[in-house]
Amino acid sequence: LIDVVDMKKSFGNIEVLKQITFQVEKNEVVAVIGPSGSGKSTMLRSLAHLEEIEGGTIRIDGEPLVHDGVYASTADIRKIGRRIGMVFQHFNLFPHLTVKQNLALAPKLVKGEPIEKLTGRITELLAKVGLADKVDAYPANLSGGQKQRVAIARALMMEPEILLFDEPTSALDPELTGEVLEVMKKLAEENMTMIVVTHEMSFAKDVATKALFMADGQIIEEGVPAEMLTIPTHDRTKAFLARTL
Ligand code: ATP
Ligand code: MG
Repeated sequence: LIDVVDMKKSFGNIEVLKQITFQVEKNEVVAVIGPSGSGKSTMLRSLAHLEEIEGGTIRIDGEPLVHDGVYASTADIRKIGRRIGMVFQHFNLFPHLTVKQNLALAPKLVKGEPIEKLTGRITELLAKVGLADKVDAYPANLSGGQKQRVAIARALMMEPEILLFDEPTSALDPELTGEVLEVMKKLAEENMTMIVVTHEMSFAKDVATKALFMADGQIIEEGVPAEMLTIPTHDRTKAFLARTL
C-alpha cells in the first residue's frame, strides 16, 4: 500500500533522511522506533505531504505522490492526501471549536459536506473512541487522553486508508496512555493500515506487525517486533533498546 524508495530530505545542509526505502502492506501496523533527531517525524510528515522530499519516490497504492523527486500534480497530491490521516503528539485540535466542530472541519472544507450530513459519522466515531458524551465539549475541558482520542476520531472522519501516528502518547501522563493505546489497538484489529512512531515497546510488540529502527536518517533494522525488540541484531538497535528499558 505504501512504497517508499530512496526518500531523501535535508534541512539546510543537514541530511535528515538518507535514502530511506521501505514498504507497508495493506492491514500492516508498523512501529517506528529510534533516538531523538533520527528523522522519524520527518519521515511521517513526508508521507502526509507536510514536508516535501528532495529525492526518491513515494507511492500510495501504486500512485506516485512523488517520483524521483518530482511531485504529482496538485489535484493528484490532494487525491492521494485524502487517503492518509495523521495524529500528532500534541493533538493539534482547534481550541475555539467544539469536539463536533473539530470533527466536521476537514470534511466540510475538503469535501464540502455540510455538518448536518456529518452528524451520524461524528456520533459513530465518538462512540468508537469512548467519547459520545463529549460531542459539545471544548478541547480545554478534556483530559490529554480524551483530546488524543478526539484527534483520532477527527482523523477517521476523512475515512483514510492509512493512519500515521507521531508519538501519540508521549505528551500524556502515564495513566492516560492506556486509553489511547486501546483505541489504536482496536483500529489495528479492524485492519487499519498504520505507521506508529512510538516509545511504547509493549504496544510495538503486541500490536505491530513490523518494527523499523531508525537512526541518523536511515533505517538500521527492520523485523518482526517480538523478535527485533527482544533480540536485535544490529549494535545500534541493541544500544537504543538497552537505554529504553
Ligand atoms: P524526536 O524523537 O525528537 O521527535 P525525530 O526522530 O522525530 O525526533 P525529526 O523531528 O524528524 O526527528 O528531526 C530530524 C532532524 O531534522 C533533527 O536534527 C531536527 O533538528 C531536524 N529538523 C526537523 N524539522 C526541521 C525543520 N523544520 N527545520 C530544520 N530542521 C529540522
Ligand atoms: Mg519526532
